[in-house]
Amino acid sequence: MATDAAARGYRTLAVDQHDFAKATSSRSTKLIHGGVRYLKQGNVALVRESLRERAILLQNAPHLVHHLAFVVPVYTWWHGPYYGIGLKLYDRLAGKLGINPSSVLSTDETLGRIPTLRPEGLRQGIEYYDSQFDDARLAVNLAQTVFDHGGAAINYMKLIRFLKTGRRVRGAVLRDEETGHEYEVKARCVINATGAFTDEVRTLDEPGAEPLITASQGAHVVLPKSFLPGNSAIMVPKTPDGRILFVIPWRDHVVAGTTDIPVDNVSLEPTPLEEEIDFILSTAAGYLSQAPERSNVLSAFAGLRPLASTRGDKKTSCLSREHTILTGDSGLVTVTGGKWTTYRKMAQDVMEQAERVAGVEPRPCPTAELRIHGWTDTPSADPVFGMYGASAEAVERLAREEPALAEKLHPDLPYTAANVVWAAREEMARSVEDVLSRRTRALILNARASVEAAPKAAALLAAELGRDDAWTQHAVAEYEKLAAHYKPVSR
Ligand SMILES: Cc1cc2nc3c(=O)[nH]c(=O)nc-3n(C[C@H](O)[C@H](O)[C@H](O)COP(=O)(O)OP(=O)(O)OC[C@H]3O[C@@H](n4cnc5c(N)ncnc54)[C@H](O)[C@@H]3O)c2cc1C
Repeated sequence: MATDAAARGYRTLAVDQHDFAKATSSRSTKLIHGGVRYLKQGNVALVRESLRERAILLQNAPHLVHHLAFVVPVYTWWHGPYYGIGLKLYDRLAGKLGINPSSVLSTDETLGRIPTLRPEGLRQGIEYYDSQFDDARLAVNLAQTVFDHGGAAINYMKLIRFLKTGRRVRGAVLRDEETGHEYEVKARCVINATGAFTDEVRTLDEPGAEPLITASQGAHVVLPKSFLPGNSAIMVPKTPDGRILFVIPWRDHVVAGTTDIPVDNVSLEPTPLEEEIDFILSTAAGYLSQAPERSNVLSAFAGLRPLASTRGDKKTSCLSREHTILTGDSGLVTVTGGKWTTYRKMAQDVMEQAERVAGVEPRPCPTAELRIHGWTDTPSADPVFGMYGASAEAVERLAREEPALAEKLHPDLPYTAANVVWAAREEMARSVEDVLSRRTRALILNARASVEAAPKAAALLAAELGRDDAWTQHAVAEYEKLAAHYKPVSR
């Protein structure tokens, strides 16, 4: 929302009570997709909108979003024509915005794409294309884009109260979570875009407001690259609980997920349940020649879907992924639901509503053609520097000019000391977690290795932020506690 507001020329401030993308936005399946499953639900409008947004993101953030081939392995004869026709429809909906048309693969071609697929009973494969991205990096780059357009985005700044004149919201009281200082900020319009925390913030405005959100947890496990050595992903169109399972190559590792479990408690650090990890591993094992085991899991993470609640007791996987915008009597604009893929369109819709609430002349939305911070016409797949896009050269220069910064943080991780220093200097990283979980993705690539890298990262960060030894030791201990959520117990 803030990127859109700043790009329209409004004085804009975005705040997050923790780090940018601490919650669900760093814990997605990392797909920018039309959503084949929504097609199955008959939600053609959502698929079409998502495909349009996919094309926009590929154009505006090519350093973070790229094409990915998916293979649907076919073991039952009628699945071939069934999914083949569905994916042709997906191609049709994409129209000119399509990446590559879907196609039927022979058994040999299927195994050529995914050599680790279980060959017994494999009849054919269906290949189609979508896109994948780095979710937390996109969030950080969007915060930087806010600054590029004259706005501000501040992490560790919590909205604790609304400022009101009568019933009308006129701003908010924000608390700096590092110092405890409180600030009063006046605003023509306040937008509540707090994901699974939506209702918590709404009740600050309207105590007793009826809940809008149903939260549903989704977990993923991360495995070594050997489980999926090629560049194609596996899409399992129907798991035993009626969901889709993705097994995708990501940053030289493999991400498998997800699940869908309704939850009552909304937490900033949801933990994958044992049953979710078992479910993902056993479902993936049905398709892979070598079954992944718990001992292979390098990291497991979970996020909460902020689903717009509907009445009745529908299963959460059937609830709408479309977004809902609600304006309270106070003028507080709340947005909820949606998905990463459609974040730009959600922001556009919200800003149109915010302009009405603020009583200002509507301004055109420029984000369909707005380059996101880091945009480059020469994106690189380099695991250490590629994610910085146009800033890659500056980060590399840090490592060149100071050889100590070229040192790796850990032998099993691609990242260097330069990544930490850059995160502190340019990306508002404040903690070891910010650096290892979201500026780099060390925590979700390999939780154990990231814990071993934490003392080095903490020392580098302390030097940049001017912290002492006590801070450093505390920072490492806090990180170890956090990372325990990502290390599944071996059985
Ligand atoms: C398992 C899973 C897989 C997914 N996979 C995909 C995918 O592959 N592709 C896709 O397009 N979408 C995917 N999604 C959906 C997508 O990730 C979410 O729709 C999106 O991240 C939600 O973003 P958000 O900003 O609404 O919420 P969040 O990312 O949760 O952000 C809300 C923020 O509000 C902050 N906040 C809360 N209260 C306050 C306060 N009082 N003051 C200040 N800040 C506050 C929180 O700290 C938090 O950072 C997935 C979701 C899940 C759960």
